[in-house]
Amino acid sequence: MKVSVIGAGNVGSAIANTMMLMQVCNNIIVYDKNLEVAQGQAWDISDAIPLIGECQVTATNDYKDLADSEIVVVTIGAKQKEGQTRLELLGENAKIIEKTMKELDTYLPKAIVIIVSNPVDVLTRVAIESSKREPNKIIGSGTILDTARIRNFLGSALGINRKNLHVYIVGEHGDNEFVVWSNAYVSSIKLESYVKNVGMDFEKLKEEAQNVTKKRAYEIINRKGYTSFGIAVSIAKLVKNILRDEKKILPISSIVDEFYALPKGLTLSMPCVIGKNGVERRLLLDFDKEERQKLTKAAQTLNAAFESLR
Ligand code: NAD
Repeated sequence: MKVSVIGAGNVGSAIANTMMLMQVCNNIIVYDKNLEVAQGQAWDISDAIPLIGECQVTATNDYKDLADSEIVVVTIGAKQKEGQTRLELLGENAKIIEKTMKELDTYLPKAIVIIVSNPVDVLTRVAIESSKREPNKIIGSGTILDTARIRNFLGSALGINRKNLHVYIVGEHGDNEFVVWSNAYVSSIKLESYVKNVGMDFEKLKEEAQNVTKKRAYEIINRKGYTSFGIAVSIAKLVKNILRDEKKILPISSIVDEFYALPKGLTLSMPCVIGKNGVERRLLLDFDKEERQKLTKAAQTLNAAFESLR
């Protein structure tokens, strides 16, 4: 099973390393326009192979070497600087994504493409519109990481296993993301009932959880300059899900227009069933009035950002 990672920076190298550690596939190609950087990362990752399990990790700066990959993960482009929003990266990164998709259409027309570069929701749409492959085969990493972040916070605040928390962050992977509190559960109990039963203030908990999660990337970037480990595990899990056809539900970015009467071709983050064909089904969430308004705002922002490129 061959998976390629385009971009050997903080994020791309962490993804390649995590895929090796989690034994997601046995052949990883690390591509960067700077071959020496790709080599440095690939060789560093390879050195641990005898301690983990068989895998091949190869560096390249030639798209031809990516041929026959089942999945390709795109992480190239500018990253957020301190205080910068994800949407401010758009102009520069859209051109890079468009060019990359042309290369991928030439050498890997059948592969599933995962977009990680930011602003990921808009760049997923750019990738879909500049590629010949079916839209379901282009997946943005969306709010997988944001959703993990809120489960992390809530699990810790409530003292329960984070895997028993079922709550999604949807919309934009960015400032217009929002929590779907109306569909949040602890095991099969409504989160609101659970929180009230243990004597906690639900409104206060919601506010704190939302604030911490929304600011998390900024707080990490202020301290270490970039984020990498959280997104790396998110992508390794997504890749594993596709390769093993696990049909897990993950909040990723894809076209959602037919469900919510949003602008045609709009991509944003929603929970979807993911399998060997990429996005296999979108979940229709039953939003309350406030969530519906937040969805509209996220959609308008993302659509305006995409239109600004024309
Ligand atoms: P980085 O600067 O460390 O790495 C980018 C790499 O891309 C560099 O090695 C550079 O040589 C390469 N590159 C740039 N343009 C290229 C081109 N045209 N062709 C080939 N290689 C090229 O950045 P990073 O910290 O790894 O972040 C990468 C992207 O991932 C950013 O857009 C960042 O915002 C995004 N990101 C997304 C998430 C998410 O949840 N979706 C999380 C973290 C970071």
